[in-house]
Amino acid sequence: MCDWEEFLFICNHSIFRLKSYCHFARNDPYHQCFGVKVLRNSWQQGVLCEKCAAECRAAAVQDGGSPQQRGILSNSRK
Ligand SMILES: [Zn+2]
Ligand SMILES: [Zn+2]
Repeated sequence: MCDWEEFLFICNHSIFRLKSYCHFARNDPYHQCFGVKVLRNSWQQGVLCEKCAAECRAAAVQDGGSPQQRGILSNSRK
């Protein structure tokens, strides 16, 4: 059983990162683990994940608008 931690992003995506190998995985030449993944921590990031942040930046470049303008537009639509 290896220890994992989870990173939660505001876009509802999450990524898992290996915190530490159990001794089974450590002794395996390919660090394979056949046990259960144990989630040790969950971290709220308060930001977009890397993929969504990149898409957001790409969209802003395409529209030619500044992030501030986009924020005002989306607020008035609510
Ligand atoms: Zn393991
Ligand atoms: Zn995302």
